[in-house]
Amino acid sequence: LSLHDALPILFEFGGIEPNPTYETLMGAVELARAEKVDFLLAVGGGSVLDGTKFIAAAAHYDLAKDPWHILETVGGEVASAIPLGSVLTLPATGSESNPAAVVSRGEAKLSFYNPLVQPVFAVLDPATTYSLPPRQVGNGVVDAFVHILEQYLTFPVGGEVQDRLAEGLLQVLVDNGPRALAEPTNYQVRANLMWAASLALNGLIGRGVPQDWSTHAIGHQLTALHGLDHAQSLAVVLPSLLREQSAQKQEKLAQFAERVWHSSREDKALRIEEAIIRTEQFFQQMGVGTRLADYGLDARCIPGICSNLKLFGLTALGEQQDIDPDKVARILSHAL
Ligand code: ZN
Repeated sequence: LSLHDALPILFEFGGIEPNPTYETLMGAVELARAEKVDFLLAVGGGSVLDGTKFIAAAAHYDLAKDPWHILETVGGEVASAIPLGSVLTLPATGSESNPAAVVSRGEAKLSFYNPLVQPVFAVLDPATTYSLPPRQVGNGVVDAFVHILEQYLTFPVGGEVQDRLAEGLLQVLVDNGPRALAEPTNYQVRANLMWAASLALNGLIGRGVPQDWSTHAIGHQLTALHGLDHAQSLAVVLPSLLREQSAQKQEKLAQFAERVWHSSREDKALRIEEAIIRTEQFFQQMGVGTRLADYGLDARCIPGICSNLKLFGLTALGEQQDIDPDKVARILSHAL
């Protein structure tokens, strides 16, 4: 055995796009199958990570089946996967710290989960984020912020630890997000954002509490049909959705207003509205528009979004399963 034989053979696969597509990823799946690749290293942001998770599962998937079935069965049929690690270059999705991935194919943007695709390690070096364009910085902060809210803004169940952790992470994003735009090479700012985005979706703050995820479900359709960046879609949907659901979410919205936005208004309804307005202003401050018009869209886009949700069976969204397509249409019509 020569030294050369003992060295690992490396293959490089580039070109995984934002909102990674099935078609691109299948190129890597073929390479991994042909070369019997036994480890994957995802170097990039959430899309590269999510795409690598799909490659890992699809490469070991039943050859007689279309690997798209992994998405259609939400990862339940994944029995084996190539182990993967990650070098993260864009703090946003938290994908480096969880077993979930989102993949697109045509007008479908679907997710899957399986512990076998959880990265076995993740390298988070804040210095790699110094050169990110402002749009990606803003998108990352908004995405992480919404990940926290979708696990926090539901109804109280006495999860004080989860609540305080969520509120702390939100505060870190509010404090450091604008500073990252103003001082791109501030290590401490970048480090705090990177760590916050990772902890936002590693499963900790969502354990044992109700979760929502309707903003993501609706936002995915805006991305699939109209090409909005993931965070842009969330910034459009979330404020309007919170207003629509403010009765169901009132206790946690009032708590969010007090603890994160330090609202001192006596009237609960006014306090809640203040929190929603401050959230909108924060997204705008991060350079992410909160209206459909900011992306050249108007009311004509709404029916298509609703039919896509029906197509994928997403007709009872939210922690109370009370967000149906009619309600989605109302939410979007208030986000014009
Ligand atoms: Zn997200």
